[in-house]
Order: sequence, then C-alpha cells, then structure tokens
Amino acid sequence: MAVVARTDLAFQQCVAPSCAATFGVEEVLTACPVCGSLLDVAYDWNRLRPPTSFEVFERKWMRRGDPLAFSGVWRFHEFLPYAPRESVVTIGEGQTLLAVSDGVGAYVGMRPGRLHLQYEGLNPSGSFKDNGMCAAFTHARMIGARRAACASTGNTSASLAVYCAVTRLMRGIIFIGSGKISYGKLSQALDYGALTIQIAGDFDDAMARVKEVSGRLGIYLVNSVNPFRLEGQKTIMYRVLEALGWEVPEWIVVPGGNLGNSSAFGKAFAELKALGLIQRVPRLAVINAAGANTLHELYTRRGLRWGGGRADLAPACHYYDELDRDKRRADTIASAIEINRPVNLTKCLRALETCDGVVREVSEQEILDAKAQVGAGGLGCEPASAASVAGARQLVAEGVIGRDERVVCILTGHQLKDPTATVAYHTTDQKLFNEVLGSRGVSRASHANRAVSVGNRIDEIVQAIDLYG
Ligand SMILES: *Cc1c(COP(=O)(O)O)cnc(C)c1O
Ligand SMILES: [Zn+2]
Repeated sequence: MAVVARTDLAFQQCVAPSCAATFGVEEVLTACPVCGSLLDVAYDWNRLRPPTSFEVFERKWMRRGDPLAFSGVWRFHEFLPYAPRESVVTIGEGQTLLAVSDGVGAYVGMRPGRLHLQYEGLNPSGSFKDNGMCAAFTHARMIGARRAACASTGNTSASLAVYCAVTRLMRGIIFIGSGKISYGKLSQALDYGALTIQIAGDFDDAMARVKEVSGRLGIYLVNSVNPFRLEGQKTIMYRVLEALGWEVPEWIVVPGGNLGNSSAFGKAFAELKALGLIQRVPRLAVINAAGANTLHELYTRRGLRWGGGRADLAPACHYYDELDRDKRRADTIASAIEINRPVNLTKCLRALETCDGVVREVSEQEILDAKAQVGAGGLGCEPASAASVAGARQLVAEGVIGRDERVVCILTGHQLKDPTATVAYHTTDQKLFNEVLGSRGVSRASHANRAVSVGNRIDEIVQAIDLYG
C-alpha cells in the first residue's frame, strides 16, 4: 500500500515516522495495515484553524444547556475535531475536580499549595475511562457500528456498559479474566446490562481474545488500541490547565497500565505547543505497580527510548519472551494497572520524549499507604490511582520533583470501585488482612483507621468515644 496524501481535515496516521501512512477516519483499524504500528488521529490544523486562545472554552461555561458545552470532553471539541457535532455522543462525562490537597501534599513531601489531585472518579462510571469511551462511541456512531466489545480489568467494561445503557446505540460485550475483577466494577457491567464473558485466563489473555473475536465478527473494539479513545483522554489535560488558569504545571503524575493516558497526555501537550497555545510542556511521570512493571523495566532499567520514532523495540520483544519463558504474570492489588503487555507502549515512549518523562515502580505497601492518605484527604480512590501519589512521593524523596513545584497527580478511579482493598487495609480482622494484603507482601497498615469494637452497652460506647473521639 502506498502512502496516500490526504485532503481530509482529520485522518488516521501511523505513529512510525518512517511509515506515516494515512487512512480515513471512517476506517476501523487497530493498527497500521502497512507496518503494524499504532495509529494516531491526526488533523490538518492549518485548515481547521483551532482557537488561538483558551478563552473560547471559558465562554462555553455560560452555555451549559448545550450538552456539548456541558461535557468536560466535548467542551474541547476543537482539539479533537474528527466528528461532526451531530455524531457526538455524550452522557455528561468530564465534570471533574482539580483539588489542592495539603494533607496528601505533606505526605508526598511537598510544600502547601503545590500538590493537586485531578479527581476522575467523578465521571459517570466512576473512572477516567468515560473520557475515552464517549470519543470511541462517537466514532462508532459515525461508522454505524451496532456492537462494541472490550477486554477489561473492570473500568473500561463499566464505562462501555454505561454508554450502551444510556445511549442504546450499541450492544456492549465485555471480556474479563477470571477472578481478577473487583466486585465494584463487575457489578456495574452486570447492572448496566452488558453481555459479560468471563474467560479462563488473565487480562492479557482476554485482550488477545477480544481482538481475535472482534476481527472475526466485525464488532467495534473500544480497547485503548482504539486511537479515538485517546483523543477523548487528552481532555483530562485541558481540564487540568483550565483549573490552573491555563498555567502549565511542572509535573503530571499518572499511573501506567495500558499506557493510554500517558500517551494521550503527551499528544495533548505536543499539539497545544505546536499550536502556540502553551510555551512549554510539563514533565510526565508514569508510575507502574512493581508487580506489573514492564514500562519501568524497559524504560528505566533497559534504556528503551522513542528516539524520535526510531525506537528499536528489540528489548521489548526480548522482555516479553522472558515473561513467557518464566511464566510471569502481572500481579498487583492495583488491578486496573495489572498489565504486563501495555498496548500503547510505543506511544507512551513518544510521550515520555515529548515531556522529558520519568518512570517509577511502587510496591503494594506504598500504593496502599498512599491510598489511605488520599482517603484521609477526602478524595477516596482505588488502589491503581494511588500509584500516582506513591510515585510522586518517591520522586520528591529522590529530589527529582522539587518541593515547590506544581504537581498534578491523576486519581484515575473512585474509592468505591474496590471496597475490599480499603476494608482489608483498615480492618482489625487479621485473617482478612492476611488474605487480601498479607499474601501480597503488605506487612503493615501504617495509616489504618480501625473500627473500635464495643459491647452493646451505653457505658462501653461512651468510654470508647471519650478515649478515641
Ligand atoms: C485503566 C485504568 C488505569 C490505567 O490507565 P492506562 O491509561 O491504561 O495506563 C489506571 N487506573 C484506573 C483506575 C484505570 O481504570
Ligand atoms: Zn505504518
């Protein structure tokens, strides 16, 4: 296939600079048909003429009766203009919050006023995934898809299920691994009425199968190999900038699973800079769980780099062979990032280059302690989200992040997504603690808020309150 010069305003483009093949937005592709690399959604910005200042977006706050102005994703339609207004799907996603947290900031080692938490748990399905799902649904609607599928550690499926239930545009089909999904997330898929297929295997198995099956049956795939989803996830960064009065923070810290967020954030900043809307990009820190640390292993230990698009992926292939040979499976309480073969690896490497990025891994203990601090600060989150806070703490301790820099940690999912982890951390029941956490090498719950057990007697209750209240 030859490289075609396109006249479209929006198109899909292979991320490999040596290939750079382009395809229409009406095509359903999960990889470049020429070379197999990932695809971007790309735009002819010269002809699209996006806003030259951010004020346009502020004015939309006055038009909140218009669903596209109300949506925290589509308010920024001009930055992801691949669909006409009438195709856009929204259920009111992106009403999120950027909060300064001095309590969590002190834990991380920052001076007051410097640590910000971007709380994506406020989305309709309780995680950031809705940012991308409305974008993928919009594309699916453009091409007339009737069924959509995903493999999921839980939140993508919850998001797919809620968009199917609200819009009635498509039948949702969800592939999950066995026993790995938290009840909070599974309950959403079931409650919203999605077809749920539980495979004897883990996430990586479910991912391989869903690709195979959707190809065979012509089902629209909404996993994060879908380039349109990442367009929606760019808007998390626009909202962060909006909340900071359009000032660019020094650091964005994000958990890394399939690496869709980190990839989308890098693209968002590269585009804003190219458009002249920002003068510099923030630095990016991507945080793996130690039990699912492919990016950390490849980037920090084995020196894998994007290299302007000339990345030699041999170390990645070699590492995956090692994983197979040793039968090593991803394993962490942070189930949303329990992924050993991140599908957006190359795009994430590009984002790390754009944003002078760093990668770290955090232990189960660090994740759970950080999660307890986030909860005590008033914005609860699920374990995977707390990896960002635990990672920021490590980077401050190393002196990589300065105590006075402005840091934004992304809280990717809501506290109630995985109540088992929370209860097990705070419990007085040693058996429960051991079962859920001790078995993962967590030795103590340093920030536990333990329930006080008393008899059903008024004097005992009064005494407990006197003692602890
Ligand atoms: C999906 C998910 C992640 C991982 O995000 P990627 O973009 O795939 O790296 C992290 N946290 C939560 C809560 C998630 O649902
Ligand atoms: Zn290609």
